[in-house]
Parts: sequence; C-alpha cells; structure tokens
Amino acid sequence: METVSGMDKITMLVYLIAAILFILGLKNLSSPKTARRGNRLSMLGMFLAVVMTAFKIIDPVYVLIGLVIGSAIGAISAKRVQMTAMPQMVAIFNGFGGGASTLVAFSEYLSLNSGYQTLDFSITVVLSILVGTVTFFGSMIAFAKLEGIMRGSPITFKGQQLVNAVLLSFILIIGAFFVMALGGVSIFSQIPPWAYLIIIAILSMILGVTSVIPIGGADMPVVISLLNSYSGLAAAFTGFVLSNYVLIISGALVGASGLILTNIMCKAMNRSLTNVLFAAVGKEAGSSTQGEQRTVTRYTGTDAAVMLENAQSIIIIPGYGLAVAQAQHVLHEMATLLMERGKDVKYAIHPVAGRMPGHMNVLMAEANVPYDYLYEMDEINDDFQHTDVALVIGANDVINPAARYKKDSALYGMPILNADKANTIMIIKRSLGAGFAGEQNELFYDPKTMMVFGDAKKMLMEIVNNLKA
Ligand code: NDP
Repeated sequence: METVSGMDKITMLVYLIAAILFILGLKNLSSPKTARRGNRLSMLGMFLAVVMTAFKIIDPVYVLIGLVIGSAIGAISAKRVQMTAMPQMVAIFNGFGGGASTLVAFSEYLSLNSGYQTLDFSITVVLSILVGTVTFFGSMIAFAKLEGIMRGSPITFKGQQLVNAVLLSFILIIGAFFVMALGGVSIFSQIPPWAYLIIIAILSMILGVTSVIPIGGADMPVVISLLNSYSGLAAAFTGFVLSNYVLIISGALVGASGLILTNIMCKAMNRSLTNVLFAAVGKEAGSSTQGEQRTVTRYTGTDAAVMLENAQSIIIIPGYGLAVAQAQHVLHEMATLLMERGKDVKYAIHPVAGRMPGHMNVLMAEANVPYDYLYEMDEINDDFQHTDVALVIGANDVINPAARYKKDSALYGMPILNADKANTIMIIKRSLGAGFAGEQNELFYDPKTMMVFGDAKKMLMEIVNNLKA
C-alpha cells in the first residue's frame, strides 16, 4: 500500500489552503466593494502555492532563476503598463499561460523513463498541448489586433470554418495515435511518440491563428475572456499531467470564471458565442462614411459648465476616451462639485465600455468614486428619459443608436445606454471620429446634442475651473 509522507501531507494541506483562498478571492472579486480584498486573498493563495511547489523541487536552481527573471519582468511591465494598454497585457499573460502549459506538458512527457503511460496522463498531455498552443497563438493574434500591429477587423478566407474543423479533426486523430502509442498499441512504430506531439503543436498553432483572425471589431472583449478561459483549461490539463492538485483547481477556476465572463460579455453585446466566433462581423475603425457635411452643435468648456450648473439631474457616461485621457480624477472632482450644489449625479457603466471587462469600474475605483454612484446599464437605462443631461466622456459605441437599427453594423443588437433619451446630451471627445467598432454615430448630429470638442482631461479641467469660478 502506498504511504503518504509527512511532507506530502503538508503539501496537500498548503494546496488546500491555497485553493480555498482562490475561491474566496474569486467570490470577493464579484463586487467592486470587496474586489481589493479578493485580489489580496488570491495573491496570498498564489504565494503559498508557489512557495510550496518551490520546496518540492529537487533541483530548484533553474526554477529559482526563472522565477526571479519572470517575476521581475511581470512586476516591471505591470507597473509601467498604461491603463489603456491593459487588454493587450491581459492577452499576453493569457498567451504565456497557455504557452507554459504546452511546454510543461511536453517536458514532463520527455522526462519520463518508461514508455507505457496511463490513459489519463497521455490524454491530458495531448489536451495541454492542444489548448495551450491554441491559447498562445490566439492570444498573440489578439494582442497584435489590439495593439494595431495587424488589422483589427475580421480577416476571413473562403472555407475558413472548414479549415478549422479539419485542423481540429487531424489534431484529435494524431492525439489518438499518441495515446495508443503510450498504451503500447503503436500503429506507426517507426514514428516516436514525441513526433506526434510536435505535429499536434504545429497544427494547434495554425488553429490558434485561424480561429482568432476572423474575430474583430467590437467582438474583441469576448475573444479576450474566452482566451483567458482557455489558458485556465490548459493549466488544469497540465495539472493532471503533473498530478498537481492546486494547478488543477486554479486552472479549473480560471477556466470556469473565464467562461462565465465570456457569457456575460456575449449577453452585454446581445450575441451568441457561436455568432461571435464564426460570423466574422465588425469592421475596420473609421471605415464608415466620413467627411459628410453635416452640422453639429458645438459647446466650449464654459458653455458646458453653465449647462451643468442649470441642470438638476446628470448621468455621466464614461468610455474608453476617459481612460486614454486619464481624466478620471478630474471627472470625480467635477461630479463632487456638482453634487455639493445639490445636483443628482450618477455614473452609468456599460459592460463593454473601455477596452477590457470591468475597465470603467477599475477607472472609477482608481479615482475613489464611491461604488454607490455607479449604476449598471440595466439599472439606469430607464432613468435617462427623466434626466436633464447625459454627459458622455470619451464614450462612443456604447451610446451609438446604430446598434438598435442598423442591421449591417458591427454594433447591431448590442444593448446601449439610452443617452439619446435624456433632455440634453453633452459629448466630450476630440472629433466626430468613430469608436472602436468603426461605426459613425448619428447622435452627434441630434439637435439635442452638444459636442464639446477636445481632450477629455483638458475639457473637464476647463469645466471644473468654470464651476469653481
Ligand atoms: P469607443 O472606443 O467606442 O469610443 C471611444 C471614443 O473616445 C472615441 O470615439 C474617441 O473619439 C474618444 N477619445 C479617444 N481619446 C480621447 C481623449 N483623449 N479625450 C476625449 N475623447 C477621446 O469607446 P466605448 O467605451 O464607448 O466603447 C468600447 C468599445 O470597445 C466597444 O465597441 C467594445 O466592444 C470595444 N471593446 C471593449 C473591450 C472590453 O472588454 N470592454 C475590449 C475590446 C474592445 P475621438 O477620437 O474623436 O476623440
């Protein structure tokens, strides 16, 4: 009978504590009020898991070197990254997670002495390499799209879905050969099992690229959260390869929460996951009709301040441009000034505003905006019709009425904030340019709309100065 050593018992206990901390952390992350605590709990869990694992390694020198270099790169880049470049960073992290799973599963197989392996081991090696490699290359494409290195709109070719289906079928067939070879049934005895894994990795690399290039435009939030989920799945499979429980649990948690987030994002855009993955909708930013000679009502910062002074109820709609301008602090200052004058001020948060899930919540938390002032789309959408001013700052797609009626638009079907229902719409942005989805916004030309052209931070500072004066 196999005996469990004292060290193994301690390891399991520490892993169990880490797993509990991950679960508590996730639970706390579900509300902005407790999100910071959630982060700390999860960090503590990860710290325990890493330390315990480091203890178990027989020759830890290389691991420690890797740990130090990796941690330094991670810490420096996380400190330096601009809030607006966060999705790219998340894409890279997802990708590296997947890539690491592939490499660990491959090396674990290579380090084995005996030829015969159990079914669960060989199957999870194949799945780790498949999902890990798809995640790595898919994430690199997502990164390139978000960073503007490659075209953000869908890239399609004839028979794309067929190609993907054929690739996946080949991967599964070759995976079956590998599993059989490790089980002692070798169909092609001259091919070493590791060669199957190399072929699986190459085909998965192509699959990662071909499955993400047709996704673009406004669908990027979905693909980012889906890749996040894949990276968790890959880690969980690798956990089975290594028989490491904490990796299985944490991978499964990431996989499941990524899927839940994907579902939330799909719902927020009123799309099904199949539609996002296979319909190739979305176009290049700015590709819609431009340069039309139409009139808009222009307001200066001073005009805007007067208008806000005279309003009683104001709903603020923050968007990506607010994050670019880093205007969250001055926005909070303006809102506080208005509240001090007895105005009813609320913030309307669209689920896909900005460039990453929860982007606006993070931005507002950074500026210490109390959570009670933040309202989700469903909670606040009926209030616009009784509101004096909808103040839109650097947001565009999330208030674009084309989402309601324009069938050929990338935004069609996405629920939007009903800014157009307010008595007056005030929009702060630099030009009449389109948003992320490349769709022109009719709301700019609405007689009720006042356009305040300029950088969000500059214009808000002007408004604040005028309010103070
Ligand atoms: P949009 O990208 O639709 O619009 C942002 C607007 O901000 C632009 O039209 C731009 O206009 C303006 N802007 C840019 N810089 C500044 C600045 N310095 N000062 C003032 N305005 C500025 O943003 P939304 O938040 O409305 O919508 C988010 C979009 O991004 C959605 O389509 C969503 O699907 C997509 N997306 C969301 C992700 C997520 O997870 N949340 C991830 C990836 C994409 P101008 O140039 O004229 O100033």
